Amino acid sequence: MIKKSDFQQKITTLLPEIDLRLAEPMSKHTSFRIGGPAEVMAFPKNVEELKKLLHTAKVLDCPRAIMGAGTNILAPDGGVSGLVICLKDCMDGIERINDTTIRVFAGVTMARAAVFAAGQGLSGLEFAHGIPGTVGGAVYMNAGAYDGEIAQVCKSVEVLTLEGNLITYTAEQMNFSYRHSRLQEDAGIVISALFSLEPKDQTEIRERMQELMQRRKASQPLDMPSAGSAFKRPAGGYAAALIDNAGLKGFRIGNAAVSEKHAGFVVNLGGATAKDVKSLLQQVSQRVYDHSGIMLEPEVRIW
Ligand SMILES: Cc1cc2nc3c(=O)[nH]c(=O)nc-3n(C[C@H](O)[C@H](O)[C@H](O)COP(=O)(O)OP(=O)(O)OC[C@H]3O[C@@H](n4cnc5c(N)ncnc54)[C@H](O)[C@@H]3O)c2cc1C
Repeated sequence: MIKKSDFQQKITTLLPEIDLRLAEPMSKHTSFRIGGPAEVMAFPKNVEELKKLLHTAKVLDCPRAIMGAGTNILAPDGGVSGLVICLKDCMDGIERINDTTIRVFAGVTMARAAVFAAGQGLSGLEFAHGIPGTVGGAVYMNAGAYDGEIAQVCKSVEVLTLEGNLITYTAEQMNFSYRHSRLQEDAGIVISALFSLEPKDQTEIRERMQELMQRRKASQPLDMPSAGSAFKRPAGGYAAALIDNAGLKGFRIGNAAVSEKHAGFVVNLGGATAKDVKSLLQQVSQRVYDHSGIMLEPEVRIW
């Protein structure tokens, strides 16, 4: 049996009631299927458990990181030391608040939120149906697609600060911009979000969701592990077109490659490492810059 680290020993003793997994492979929890073991991965069921985790991490002076569904994370091959708190399917719940507003907890997937809204005859989340992450991750990233983004529908966000206080930010206070929210500078954990939607015929909403899903299936390599678009859209262009024009479709380092189907995606061909993906991202940025003079910036969060 492998000996527990000091931190593993202490946290399992202090928090026996919380679902804690030791040396849990990040690759099991990221859509890239990449990443070494998290020293401790925690699955809190509610805000109280989350508060206890933050408090204990502080007392034990260990690093901690938050993840949702891991669909926008490149986790390191050597693993993550300290505590990784995974909220997917944990911070659960979705409810209608009034005629036009729904509240969705951070661990709910965007697909489930969009299907719930459609079932209530509320329009606005159709764009998010095919985004494979959680509401927490989508708010943090201001995720978007097909001319929609979280900022357009978000009314407010309930956030747990790292000191353990619950606060509410209005959409304005969230400082949303392209694939950016204030939480990227001012750390805090999304607990839930209020989305402001518009009443509409359910059939129309569902048809739009299906149409967008068909467009995704036709253009994206959804059968291969990836983290979606690897690069942000640069001013004055599209990353995929710039990469394609630089002749980089299919360009490969180790087992990571620029997708043949969609040049904006980096895919794991099987057994790719974080090192492969990082080198590929660097090489692609450099070659696109040499070809077009435009510098691409990764959209995927590199841990
Ligand atoms: C096939 C595919 C298609 C995709 N298409 C799109 C698309 O169309 N549009 C788009 O925008 N993205 C897209 N993505 C990327 C990804 O799905 C989104 O960025 C998504 O919002 C990430 O959510 P997540 O729960 O997986 O977050 P994670 O990947 O787990 O985390 C992403 C970041 O958010 C932080 N975070 C997660 N949860 C919380 C929380 N509760 N509180 C605070 N911080 C948190 C993490 O620390 C991390 O920095 C795609 C990905 C894939 C694999």
